[in-house]
Amino acid sequence: MKLTILGTMGAYPTKDSSTFACLLQTPHETILLDCGSGVLMTLDRYVPTYALDRVIISHRHHDHMADLGCLSYAALIDGELGRRKTVLPLHVPERLALGGDAGPWTAQILYDEQTILDLAQGYTIHFQRGRHDAKVFAMSLHQGRENLLTITWDTGWYEELPLFCQGARLLLAECSLYAHQTGLLKGHLSSTQVANLATRSRPKKLILTHLPHFGDPADLVREVQESYCGEVLLATPGMTFQKNA
Ligand SMILES: [Zn+2]
Ligand SMILES: [Zn+2]
Repeated sequence: MKLTILGTMGAYPTKDSSTFACLLQTPHETILLDCGSGVLMTLDRYVPTYALDRVIISHRHHDHMADLGCLSYAALIDGELGRRKTVLPLHVPERLALGGDAGPWTAQILYDEQTILDLAQGYTIHFQRGRHDAKVFAMSLHQGRENLLTITWDTGWYEELPLFCQGARLLLAECSLYAHQTGLLKGHLSSTQVANLATRSRPKKLILTHLPHFGDPADLVREVQESYCGEVLLATPGMTFQKNA
């Protein structure tokens, strides 16, 4: 599988990065994980919209789905031109109002904690309800029993999160707040909380993402490293990770 980080920002994009989203490519599927502001423009550097087999949206906040209405238009155009052969499934935690006429080439499919998406060849995606002011789910990609990837998406701290992230080869943790801001914004993790999460879940590699527009995000890495001794990296647009099937 290959994971490409398309953008890294929380809340809104910058000239250098869309909001946080990823492109996941398994042997049989190409999947867009979240579709916030600026994501479609970034996606265009890697794959055409008609290459997408499905889209998974973590929650309804704009920085995670702002481009979804335009993606439904892309699917409509791709379908009418004959270069999209099947309806594009949009996996969503609750029904989303996309505005305009989304057309017949996308279909919203609800998921919850009981859902397991089977991607063939032993790859599955699992979900756990997070703590946020919108219905949000952390997600994990497994191959057999191995946790290849966990993404926390937006969440406040909760006790069940470390177990869900346990032993991930790659843990992408939202890190919206600096250590001194812990608890300032309900529903988001600080560097101190991410360090605690990593200490308890022991990922092979920890990536900090959903980055703030204030302060120096490099400080987030330094703050995590004050109490966590594993590998920590700051997410950058275009960063890729690969594991051969
Ligand atoms: Zn967000
Ligand atoms: Zn949010």
